[in-house]
Amino acid sequence: MTEIVCTQCGSKHVVINRKYNGQKLCSSCFRKSIEKQVLKTVKKEKLVTKNDKVLVALSGGKDSVALLKILNILKEKNIIELEALTIDEGIAGYRQEGVRIAKETTAKLGIKHHIVSFEDKYNFTIDKIMELQKKSDNPQHACTYCGVFRRQIFNQIARDIGATKLATGHNLDDEVQSIVMNYLEGNINNMVRIGYKTESSDERFTQKIKPLRKIPEKEIGLYVLESGFEVHFDGCPYAHESFRMEIGDFIREATLKHPTIMYSTL
Ligand code: SF4
Ligand code: ZN
Repeated sequence: MTEIVCTQCGSKHVVINRKYNGQKLCSSCFRKSIEKQVLKTVKKEKLVTKNDKVLVALSGGKDSVALLKILNILKEKNIIELEALTIDEGIAGYRQEGVRIAKETTAKLGIKHHIVSFEDKYNFTIDKIMELQKKSDNPQHACTYCGVFRRQIFNQIARDIGATKLATGHNLDDEVQSIVMNYLEGNINNMVRIGYKTESSDERFTQKIKPLRKIPEKEIGLYVLESGFEVHFDGCPYAHESFRMEIGDFIREATLKHPTIMYSTL
């Protein structure tokens, strides 16, 4: 039986076998390859320029922790300034853990951290809204509210601190889900807007960038674990009700038989 070794350095401790390109990598080569890919995307798509002040949307989940860690490489080279913002929407049993991890991650990396809660800013929580929704004739999904208020806070804090870019941890799976969802719902205009960065000329909105857009979700999880960072893997309790979740399951299933399908969709 042939021994599986890292295709970069020959190490026997392979942590990933990338079916979509045949690479087998050890922990160190894998981490380097993720960082290289993300930084290459940042450069190629001109997501940041020298002296940009980047605000990272940091939930404490794997994507935003990985994003912060990789953008910190640019901060350490004095190319950008970097701060992080965590929003506490008031979702019991879910968000507290994310806030704790976000605090610890920023402390470890020495990055300024802002935390804003819906409770303090708007005097309500998503849990309270959803409680009231139970009595409504036309209940809306939690994400509908959550998304609107989160966007407001992100843009406000970005303006307050003079951030020139707002970075989010959207990964390959998220982007492909958005494309398929918009396609199935007939929102062709939204599809045109999906990309590495937003192109709004409205000064009230800070430009959004998505440096992880080409990295599969599974690899981001592995990257943070192999980097020794703690993340919370639990999903939001309201997410399972969403159409996005159904589409996500469908795409994951399809990827098992067709490993390159997410890249071709993107
Ligand atoms: Fe908010 Fe929906 Fe995200 Fe939960 S899944 S945090 S409700 S946007
Ligand atoms: Zn290696």
